[in-house]
Amino acid sequence: MYHGSCLCGAIGLTIDAPLKGPIACHCRQCRRQSGHYFSAVPAPKSALHITGSANLTWFRASDIASRGFCQTCGSTLFWRPDDGPTIMVAMAALDAPTGLRLSGHYWCDHKGDYYAIPDTLPRFEGDSA
Ligand SMILES: [Zn+2]
Ligand SMILES: [Zn+2]
Repeated sequence: MYHGSCLCGAIGLTIDAPLKGPIACHCRQCRRQSGHYFSAVPAPKSALHITGSANLTWFRASDIASRGFCQTCGSTLFWRPDDGPTIMVAMAALDAPTGLRLSGHYWCDHKGDYYAIPDTLPRFEGDSA
């Protein structure tokens, strides 16, 4: 069981499933919304339970997914594709210790020019190899 929240605490979350394989996304949307690159972990939509969801705003950033954030404090929390059983949950929202480790970097071709990717994890252009 994982627990987490936004910065102000208005939104809480629990994930009642084992998690693995968080990723870092360097796409323009993730960078614009999060302030840097976005690290998130896939979770079953059915295992995610949200409290304070009246504070959650969904921004429809593309034709395939919505991005959830706290309307009070602005914390970036979720990337939710319309299709499929999985939602991406921001690693920064999870309480420590998570016991998880990043598994790779995605959309590296869109990364900002002001930083270097600091590790030797697998790197991908777009969302796949
Ligand atoms: Zn908040
Ligand atoms: Zn992204």
